[in-house]
Amino acid sequence: MKPRPHTLARALVVGAIGGATIAVPMFGLTAPSAVGTPVVRATADAPSTAEILASAPQQTTPTSVLAPAATGLRDVDQVSRSLTRDPLPSCTGVVVETSGNGQIPAKDLCTLWDGVHMLRGDAAVALTELNSNFKAAFGRNLCLTDAYRTLAVQRRLAYTKPGLAAMPGTSNHGWGLAIDLCGSETGSSSAMAWLHKNGPAYGWDNPAWARPGGSGPHEPWHWEYVPGTTAMGTNYS
Ligand SMILES: [Zn+2]
Repeated sequence: MKPRPHTLARALVVGAIGGATIAVPMFGLTAPSAVGTPVVRATADAPSTAEILASAPQQTTPTSVLAPAATGLRDVDQVSRSLTRDPLPSCTGVVVETSGNGQIPAKDLCTLWDGVHMLRGDAAVALTELNSNFKAAFGRNLCLTDAYRTLAVQRRLAYTKPGLAAMPGTSNHGWGLAIDLCGSETGSSSAMAWLHKNGPAYGWDNPAWARPGGSGPHEPWHWEYVPGTTAMGTNYS
């Protein structure tokens, strides 16, 4: 199938800054391969994928860069306007209609600021904008252990951590629409409070199933790009 690029109007993300709601972009994406089959809610994603995947680059966060005290932290509405509107120059933010979960060619994804992790274009741009504001507040980049996962990696996780990793082919990691945060983030109450307050303005949120009392395992590290998962029909509750 020929890729049909769909450009995410950057204004959707920018315009949402400080707003309470996010417009859901109409990507016109074909539904994921799960259409016609029972929807399998994404379950646990192991936060320590890097530990399992010897070939994957390790992400470590020295304790010296742990979040500072909450005092003096700035929120998005105070700093966003002073930041660049093109935070990820190598990424156009274009969403390429693509093949299956975990089978997205690297050329159709965008590499994040760490030079390692990849996401779908729109999700990557939005997360990078969120990260720019996070960095302005905390003086460091967000620490990620995982983002896009290939189907092979999902299968390996399901094999090595049965019951923890999502069923291969169903994870939003496989659509390039999910990240896992380092323990240094989830262990920082100030970082988590900031993310919960500011993430949704960029479309990024910890899904309800992953929250305490939610329908799934408690995964405070797992965050998803809601405009993307909503359009894909994979915004599981
Ligand atoms: Zn995850």
